[in-house]
Amino acid sequence: MPKRNLRFVKRVRNVPVLGICEYCKAQFSGDPAMGNAQSAIQAQFNVHKCKPEDAGQPAARAVPEGK
Ligand SMILES: [Zn+2]
Repeated sequence: MPKRNLRFVKRVRNVPVLGICEYCKAQFSGDPAMGNAQSAIQAQFNVHKCKPEDAGQPAARAVPEGK
């Protein structure tokens, strides 16, 4: 599990509305009108899967590795 950190980059009236994963730069937004934007963002962050920064590897490789 890579070490990752949630950073809030935007706040409205002291309530965080936009957070990013410092590891993979994924963004998570919350609705300040809901009142629990911070925990909503935190929850999205908790369940997201970090993408490696150099995601240039083609996933579809038809030839299987020999065993
Ligand atoms: Zn991430």
